[in-house]
Amino acid sequence: MRVRVLGSAAGGGFPQWNCNCPNCSALRSGSLKARPRTQAQVVVSPSPATWFLLNASPDLRQQLLATPELAPSAAKSTSPVATILLTSADVDCVMGLLHLREFQPLHIFSMPAVRRILTEENSIFRVLTRSNPPVRWDNLQPDRIIPLVPPSALGMKDGFFCKAVPLFGGFPDYISDSLRHSLSPDEAVIGLQFIHKEKRFFYAPSLPGVGDDWRRTVDESDLALLDGTFWKDDELIATKRSTKTAREMGHVPLSGPHGLLSQPFRLGKARRVLIHINNTNPVLNEDSREHRAVRDAGFEIAYDGMEFET
Ligand SMILES: [Zn+2]
Repeated sequence: MRVRVLGSAAGGGFPQWNCNCPNCSALRSGSLKARPRTQAQVVVSPSPATWFLLNASPDLRQQLLATPELAPSAAKSTSPVATILLTSADVDCVMGLLHLREFQPLHIFSMPAVRRILTEENSIFRVLTRSNPPVRWDNLQPDRIIPLVPPSALGMKDGFFCKAVPLFGGFPDYISDSLRHSLSPDEAVIGLQFIHKEKRFFYAPSLPGVGDDWRRTVDESDLALLDGTFWKDDELIATKRSTKTAREMGHVPLSGPHGLLSQPFRLGKARRVLIHINNTNPVLNEDSREHRAVRDAGFEIAYDGMEFET
């Protein structure tokens, strides 16, 4: 399968329009060895001309236009990207659905709670029902493998499958208390594991780091794109951009005790790549000791346009 990173930054992108942290200001002035990045967006393809969107970023329109392979084909005049899988109802994951509203029949997979948040309380997403046929929602279920593309014949191993891995994060703060209390916590944030011809790709742009299932999933995968949002647990407090720690926001930090870099991953198989990198994160600076520490710990750092074949 092919995996392409259209955007690699956390919410706000890099630089962020209203941020003057050392990274953002140095990138603007041209004195930082770093790449600008759009907000996290990944597409995965089991075969030519079939692409699945993993979430729908606020930068989605720009990201699609920058990727000629994702343009509608001349022959059929239909888009090769009609299916979207959502990992949570966070603004960064769903805002781009509004970019897809141009009367395109869409197929969205999500946990039932995410669907309820978007359809019961946020009426703006009803624009997706104007297409003919209207948007089709299908539920993902914890740890259940579902076919996204069925095998071409009985016994063939060419199908494309997906499994939702509950990651036990929180629901977004924009939803009402009454809805929140009626939702199951294991549906708030998931990772997605894709399986094609015995290769496995795990996508977890938000990783609270709770329990062991997520680490087992990384270990059994050939490629894992993982939450690289923050270097330190108190990163946003130190830059006065929030009063919450990284962990309180559902992101295991890279450094520190029990940080992502110190997790006891099995050596060898999985190619581990950080994505969803916040503009305050020092790993964005390619000359920094933190950037070096990430590479020394066996991780790569995603950038816009990065591509994998697995
Ligand atoms: Zn910044």
